[in-house]
Amino acid sequence: MPLLTADEPAAVETVNAEGSSPVVLLCDHASPRIPRALGDMGLTEVQRLDHIGWDIGAAEVARRLSALLDAPLVLAGYSRLVIDCNRPAGTPGSIPPVTGGVTVPGNQAVTAEDRRRREAELLLPYHAAITAILDARLRAGTPAVVLAIHSFTPFLETPRPWRIGFTYGRDRRLAGAMLDAFTARWPALTAGDNLPYAVGEATDYAMPVHGLARGLLHLLIEIRNDGVRDAAGQTAWAARIAECWRAVEPALARAGY
Ligand SMILES: [Zn+2]
Repeated sequence: MPLLTADEPAAVETVNAEGSSPVVLLCDHASPRIPRALGDMGLTEVQRLDHIGWDIGAAEVARRLSALLDAPLVLAGYSRLVIDCNRPAGTPGSIPPVTGGVTVPGNQAVTAEDRRRREAELLLPYHAAITAILDARLRAGTPAVVLAIHSFTPFLETPRPWRIGFTYGRDRRLAGAMLDAFTARWPALTAGDNLPYAVGEATDYAMPVHGLARGLLHLLIEIRNDGVRDAAGQTAWAARIAECWRAVEPALARAGY
C-alpha cells in the first residue's frame, strides 16, 4: 500500500523551474505536513508545528527569493519528522526516533517496508527534482549555484546570538563571500560563520550531494526563526539575502562560478 494517496499534495513542489538566475534554491524543511496514513505520529499539534517538524518561515523566505532573483526553487512537501530530506537515507537522523528532546511515537517501530516507502515516496522525488534542474543546466551549459534556505530555533540549551548563519562543509567560496557582503551591510545583525551548525557529510545530504560532489558553488543559509515568523520578517530577510547575492555575483561570474 502506498504511503501517499492520490488526493494528497505531492512530495515535491518546484517553483519557477526555468528561472534565469544561476541560483537554484532548495528548501529541505519547507513543510510540517504529515501523510494522512501516519496520522499525527503521536505528537500534539504544537509539537508538529514547532521547529522539530519543519523550518518555520524558511519556505516563505525561499519563495520570495525565488521571485526576487528569478531563481528556480524546489521545496520538500512533507515534514522532516517523517523523513528528513537533508539526511542521508538510513542514518539515525533520517527518520528520527527522538528529535530536539522530543520522542516521536510514530518513529518508534518503523519497519523496513515503512522506511522504504518514506524513502521512495518522499525523499527520492525531492532529490530527483533537484537533480533534474541541475542536470538540465549542465546539458545547457548554464551555471548553477546551489543555495539552501533553512531556519533554526533561537534557543537550544542556551540562547543563540546569530540572526543568520552562512554554513558550508569544505568549500567556503560562496559562504565566505556572502558572509562578507552581509556583515559589511548589517554589522549589527550577528552572522554565524559555519554557525549554528557546520555542514557535514554524515549529518547533511543536500549540500554534499548537489553542491560539493558536483563541484558547484553552494551555501546553506540558516535564519533564526524568530525573524521569519511573519510576512514582514520573511520579506526583509529575503531582501537582505538577495542584496548579498547581487553584490557577490559579478566576481563569481567573472571566475566562471
Ligand atoms: Zn532545516
